[in-house]
Amino acid sequence: MNDPLLGSRNREAHAAALAAAAAEVNRYLVGRTTPRSSVSPATLAAQTAAVDLTTPLGTLDKALDEVRGLYLDHAVGYHHPRYLAHLNCPITIPAVAAETLATSVNTAVETWDQGTSACLIEQRLIDWVTGLIGFASSEDTPDHPDDSHRTRGAGPDGVFTTGGTASNLQGLFTAREDRLSRPGPGRRTGSDGASDRGARLSRLRIVTGEHAHLSVVKAARLLGLAPDAVITLPGDGDRMDPATLDRTLSALTDAGDEVAAVVALAGTTDHGAIDPLREVGGICRRHDVWLHVDAAYGGGLLVSPTRRELLDGIELADSVTVDFHKTFFLPVAASALLLRDGSGFRHSTVSADYLNPADGEDHAVDKSLQTTRRFDALKLWMTLRVMGADGIGRLLDGAIDVAARIGRTIDADPELELVRRPDLSTVLFRPRPAAVAGDESDALVRPVRDALFAEGRSVVAATVVDGRPCLKLTVLDPYLRDEDVDAVLADVRDAASYLAEGMRQATTAGVLT
Ligand SMILES: *Cc1c(COP(=O)(O)O)cnc(C)c1O
Repeated sequence: MNDPLLGSRNREAHAAALAAAAAEVNRYLVGRTTPRSSVSPATLAAQTAAVDLTTPLGTLDKALDEVRGLYLDHAVGYHHPRYLAHLNCPITIPAVAAETLATSVNTAVETWDQGTSACLIEQRLIDWVTGLIGFASSEDTPDHPDDSHRTRGAGPDGVFTTGGTASNLQGLFTAREDRLSRPGPGRRTGSDGASDRGARLSRLRIVTGEHAHLSVVKAARLLGLAPDAVITLPGDGDRMDPATLDRTLSALTDAGDEVAAVVALAGTTDHGAIDPLREVGGICRRHDVWLHVDAAYGGGLLVSPTRRELLDGIELADSVTVDFHKTFFLPVAASALLLRDGSGFRHSTVSADYLNPADGEDHAVDKSLQTTRRFDALKLWMTLRVMGADGIGRLLDGAIDVAARIGRTIDADPELELVRRPDLSTVLFRPRPAAVAGDESDALVRPVRDALFAEGRSVVAATVVDGRPCLKLTVLDPYLRDEDVDAVLADVRDAASYLAEGMRQATTAGVLT
């Protein structure tokens, strides 16, 4: 390519490139009969390593040919009806169109002079989501002792991020700074020197449930908290137990520790369990502790026409994580951190003369941990404008209905054991081949998952529940048909009995020698 840069002079090349890429996607969708190819990761690694990066191919067509063999032919197809492993959703077509626009125009949502319209569209959506949460109607925002340099109003606000991990990090960062900007335990207001800050940092705690996402621990590490800063409470089943939370917060205060935040889950990654948000919120208010609600998974319930009440009490949070690339059916990456009191973003603000001078207006970059940031909001905007909030919510509702149906199917199957009735859209279960007694089936779980993955016909996930391994189906396709579910379950049963037979022979051989 002589001139590969996008501009008015070569817009025909741009159109041709998009058409060629779209044709590849079409080929991928049609040609993909299994969720993944059966080519092993080792073979793919060798193929990838064999590419000579010093010799360019010269044309887009040749590069597409190469990428087809390296990537498209082997990419795991999340849209495929027998991909039921992780929280990867099928994506809306309006969002894909939006991605093309955002990528081709390449707007950076950063400052007014770089992305005026994009900043406005993003902000409109932030206001929409904070409204869905119910922040706008909640009572007064708390006072901050150091609000002298506050530039933003005290209303709810938010920012798009790259994912739940990033949203949780920024939420917990904001909570940490909020805590440290208040007087410490046993201190007079104002005695907030650097050494005091260091001492307080080492005694800051984050309290969460047993099933918190790994990103909470990661955030605590990045935030410089002590290695044992994250306290995971034993649950009431899969949910946080309010009485235990209440007692723990009192005990921590009595011991001279400070709690930076309580992290409640609106949808645990494995089970979809939702903590009792209203009770937890009330307890946090009583103890004057920041509540972060991780709704990376359950956030889609905000637009559910029939299940919004499952998030009852979410408006009591100080900060909320929502992943649009999970239950709003958008392509990666799209997430947001929402704050009840948007002035908390002042902790993320650093001004620079070349970008966002301190004496100038507020900019999107003031709220973000990123500087250059993709216009991910556009895919939410386009999807919302085409389908409406109910339309998006109905997709999740449909997926939850399918998961419930699969739960009943598994429960009725003598060769499968349902571990939990689905709460949201995950189904936890275990193979139970006739030849294998009770707990011995635990040893089959990983091998069954691995065998399915190697074959590529059905992809399921494996996890551990109550100390015992089990398989997991994550359902995000409301149009999933029974015949596809039956095919996946048949693959699980077949692999389990085949592996059980192998186990039985190995045991017998062991006895004989
Ligand atoms: C997926 C998930 C996250 C992490 O989100 P990413 O978008 O993968 O970074 C955080 N919390 C929960 C509960 C999740 O399910």
